[in-house]
Amino acid sequence: MEVAEALRFATAELGLEPSEARMLLARASGRTRVALIAHPEARLDAAQTLRFTELASRRRAGEPVAYLLGEREFYGLCLAVSPAVLIPRPETELLVDLALERMPPEGAVLDLGTGSGAVALAIKSQRPRARVTAVDASEAALDVARGNAVRLGLDVELLCGDWYAPLADRRYAVVVSNPPYVATGDHHLVEGDLRFEPRRALVGGSDGLDDLRRIVARAPSHLQSGGWILLEHGRGQDEPVRALLEAAGLRNVESRADLAGIARCTFGQYYSE
Ligand code: GLN
Repeated sequence: MEVAEALRFATAELGLEPSEARMLLARASGRTRVALIAHPEARLDAAQTLRFTELASRRRAGEPVAYLLGEREFYGLCLAVSPAVLIPRPETELLVDLALERMPPEGAVLDLGTGSGAVALAIKSQRPRARVTAVDASEAALDVARGNAVRLGLDVELLCGDWYAPLADRRYAVVVSNPPYVATGDHHLVEGDLRFEPRRALVGGSDGLDDLRRIVARAPSHLQSGGWILLEHGRGQDEPVRALLEAAGLRNVESRADLAGIARCTFGQYYSE
């Protein structure tokens, strides 16, 4: 089969997006996407065709491209991902930007619910002298994060446990988290990529705020004076998250919108006095 024919099959017959079909064919054929565009007449051998047909069919059945390829780009890093971790989202780059703006270059940073390690590794890649700790309750997720840290040569401390549990009384200049925040009954959970992602990384109780409440409640015990906590959340959760931070005594509480204009991150500052 020729490249053009394979792509036509995937888009016209299976209904895949052209860009996704090219990514899957690049993987199946060992060619770059540029080469696929430049040489539509190139011939695929039987093994390549078979690999492509299988990937395209799995995509058609809903499996996320990131899981099929086993990788996703985030903040300029190529991260390995598996169904043990949430797929890093572009909007989460806002959380990284806001943390980088607020952290001292050599400060101690804590990422709660690190998953693939995306946020912690992005911060470490931008601030090599920072001491970055990342926590996750899932050993399987930490294995993915550990693999990413090693491959990227980024020295991040990885700890297993429930939110602050493995940290004793350690305090940080910055605490960041992209916790589960989807409400239990949210219809998005039965649509698209979310169907294939770990529920414990997505669902935060009946209003989606259960984990945000836990994280905020104990933030004053783990922030240095003048330190910041920054939280990602869902649409419409900015006001309740600001209220949680204010109730916990944090100051300078504000939210910021992502590129789609949705209030996506809320942060506040802790002072011991
Ligand atoms: N942003 C994800 C979504 O709604 C949810 C991620 C999360 O719960 N942290 O698709």
